[in-house]
Amino acid sequence: MTATLLDGQALALKLRERLRKQVSELAGRAGRPPGLAVVRVGDNPASAAYVRNKKAACERVGIASFEHHLPVTTAQADLLEIVRDLNGDDRVDGILLQLPLPEGLEERSLLHAIAPDKDVDGLHAFNMGLLMSGEPGLRSCTPAGVMEILADAEIPLAGKRAVVVGRSILVGKPLGLMLLEANATVTIAHSRTNHLAELTRQADILVVAIGRPRAIGADAIKPGAIAIDVGINRVMEGGKSKLVGDIDFEAALEVAGAITPVPGGVGPMTVTMLLYNTLLSYCRRLDLPPVDLRAS
Ligand code: NDP
Repeated sequence: MTATLLDGQALALKLRERLRKQVSELAGRAGRPPGLAVVRVGDNPASAAYVRNKKAACERVGIASFEHHLPVTTAQADLLEIVRDLNGDDRVDGILLQLPLPEGLEERSLLHAIAPDKDVDGLHAFNMGLLMSGEPGLRSCTPAGVMEILADAEIPLAGKRAVVVGRSILVGKPLGLMLLEANATVTIAHSRTNHLAELTRQADILVVAIGRPRAIGADAIKPGAIAIDVGINRVMEGGKSKLVGDIDFEAALEVAGAITPVPGGVGPMTVTMLLYNTLLSYCRRLDLPPVDLRAS
């Protein structure tokens, strides 16, 4: 068997073009473009690259981006002050605190300081609570991107056995809830799970988000399963640095029914959902008709 490729990059481009058209129409009506503020602390090169990528994506769809790059020595109280200012800034519809923060800064209280209606990363307890209770709200971007990939490929979820490997607040836990909302029967596995491969082999839908290069091999995948690889790991091979996922892609191609590549799978969809959340927040705040990601 050779798995079908679930091309997150192509889907992201298609959806961003849709969003661009909606932004140009709405911004004319509202008199200002949607705005996303990105707060970055310190000089982590990976964070710098992610922020560059997000800013460029904003520009392409017509979202104004405001970057606040602060020194690594920034105090918690000063960062809190900046977040509060952004909460009150009318040009800003979404606030993104680029994680991880440098040591000494406490993430949770800063994330909770973001106004829930501007929490475009969907990490505030209020938005997590809305997800838990099945109410509409800002959904965290990576799991929401995974759900869009599944929806676009018209993969049925109701009654299917879904196994999510990884239980982080960023990916695994919210994704488990989203799959449950879509009527899948969900198991969330983690580093303390016994007999992991036995469990993953039962999955019709397998999502892996653990941050371990190629940890899931072909023997851990049910033939014909849908394999979604969230992991992004930089490895050195043949003297070159490259990105690989948590699934052994080459081996999985022979077993899975469909699979996301790394790079070019979930990553581009994470950024797309950030743009979408910014637009959702903009529409709600300005009382505009809601944007529709799936309307062609
Ligand atoms: P975290 O480190 O926060 O969480 C990792 C999770 O994986 C934990 O729940 C951990 O279990 C579990 N885990 C670790 N090792 C194993 C193992 N050997 N077997 C089973 N479970 C294991 O990572 P994130 O959720 O933030 O990210 C996961 C991966 O996804 C990373 O590679 C990250 O770079 C990538 N990522 C990709 C994004 C994208 O846009 N594509 C966005 C966000 C993340 P325990 O809880 O027991 O410690």
